Amino acid sequence: MSDYMVRGTAVNGELRFFAAITTETAEFAREAHNLSPIATAALGRLLTAGTMMGPMMKNDDDVLTIKIDCEGPIKGLTVTADSKGNVRGYVKNPDVFLPATPEGKLNVADALDLGVLSVIRDEGLKEPYVGQTILETSEIAEDLTYYFANSEQTPSSVALGVLMNRENTVRKAGGFIIQVMPGFSDETAAALEERLSKIPSVTTMLDEGLMPEDIMNRLLEGMDPVFTDKIPVGFRCTCSREHTADMLRALSKEELREIVDEGKDIEVKCNFCGKAYNFTVAELQEML
Ligand SMILES: [Zn+2]
Repeated sequence: MSDYMVRGTAVNGELRFFAAITTETAEFAREAHNLSPIATAALGRLLTAGTMMGPMMKNDDDVLTIKIDCEGPIKGLTVTADSKGNVRGYVKNPDVFLPATPEGKLNVADALDLGVLSVIRDEGLKEPYVGQTILETSEIAEDLTYYFANSEQTPSSVALGVLMNRENTVRKAGGFIIQVMPGFSDETAAALEERLSKIPSVTTMLDEGLMPEDIMNRLLEGMDPVFTDKIPVGFRCTCSREHTADMLRALSKEELREIVDEGKDIEVKCNFCGKAYNFTVAELQEML
């Protein structure tokens, strides 16, 4: 079953929700970047958020960037997403290893430690929208909850989960975002809180084999969830040989001259997907 996200509303539009299964997306990222289990969990969570937050944008060309700069050993994470379910991303240190938490879980919080979460939305306007929040728990889902509350004034519940197999491949990944819409009633807020306190963690539900629709139906039981969209999602990079050549051409003459004078073919790797592009000295010479 390929990855996808669903969205919809509940309680006559007082709530809106997004839910995604992203197992293949997280596994693709793990393989492309040779990520340690903690790095897989951290990037998998942020990519899952990207698959749901990308489609919150209106236009086809809009680009969302979610960036975490942090002091922990993972050093930083970057994810970009479009409005059509395409995401890509990387971590600064893919080799981070830490002992498990006392509960036996991957210690994402200590891998990130203190830091700042930035959400940048380029919607084709003169200036992109930038919202920032300090990491509160460094578990990513809670940090995004704080981001939505503080920067977008939208009370939200964000859950993100990545579950690993014993041999360190991704077993399940996914999550959901539920938001209350302007004009929501106190009863709706209270009912949602009640439902949230009663359901198992998103990783438990994913491990039970629940799909995004099942998770939302379970969570929003009695709140009339209506599904409006189902969008295929996946890890897709926009890099190309031409783009990479353009980047090289954008270097200063001196920098390019230095590379040519070294007399060696070069390999340029895409940060986002790890794909390598090779350029010969002759090609570099031509760029000069
Ligand atoms: Zn790429």
